[in-house]
Amino acid sequence: MKAKFTFLVALVFFIVGYSPDTFGIFNNTPSLKPFPVIGQQKEPALVKIKELDDSFIIDLKYATTDNFTGKKIYSQDICLIHRNTAQKLISAHKEFKQLGYRIKIYDAYRPYSAQRILYDAAENKSFLADPEKGSNHNRGAAVDITLVDEKGDELPMPSMFDEFSKKSRIDYYNTTRELINNRELLGRVMIKHGFKRIGNEWWHFDDTKAKQYPLLDIPFEDFMDPRPSGLLSELQSITYPTYLCTRCRVGRFTFC
Ligand SMILES: [Zn+2]
Repeated sequence: MKAKFTFLVALVFFIVGYSPDTFGIFNNTPSLKPFPVIGQQKEPALVKIKELDDSFIIDLKYATTDNFTGKKIYSQDICLIHRNTAQKLISAHKEFKQLGYRIKIYDAYRPYSAQRILYDAAENKSFLADPEKGSNHNRGAAVDITLVDEKGDELPMPSMFDEFSKKSRIDYYNTTRELINNRELLGRVMIKHGFKRIGNEWWHFDDTKAKQYPLLDIPFEDFMDPRPSGLLSELQSITYPTYLCTRCRVGRFTFC
């Protein structure tokens, strides 16, 4: 009976000129939409934050093995950020400095290719943006940060960075007043300067305008000085495989 029904539906689709899979009726394959990921800067959207304000402390965790994957994900230790987001972060940093603190940056711009590597590596996917949608980190418009005191020591927070537990939530209150105050100070000042918090990561802040900026897959090497070439470039393409077809932006390989 089911086979007969399926045959009839397929016949109708055939007659009207559609493949049954057009609507994803017959299998569970997710619908793949064109996915604009930009591989080169048409305008200088990304900037090196240190060149604008060298008082930030940079500790890019994914450029080291000190992250939840235990592997070095970024090929270069270069902290990049969208230029408009940078202005907001610098103004927040000014306020923190007046209070005797400085911002330590764990992550900022993350190439789209790296998002997929992290997503595939994570056991708990709820802490990472689905690569099908992209992350605001891929836009250069999100930062993972904490605060350090005048001696450079991190302020204690309710959880470690990238700790995938309820202690990382911004509504976790089963801890000391000091830890809550530190987390809320970070959140309050960032919101004042044009950022949004997310529920499950106290360290993550999205630029409120993030969605206005495109997803990017520009390799860090484009920001090296001087830019490498030849054999090194080939090695980089291994480090940063192109997951999306460069023609249709839908397929999973360089050319689908
Ligand atoms: Zn983040």
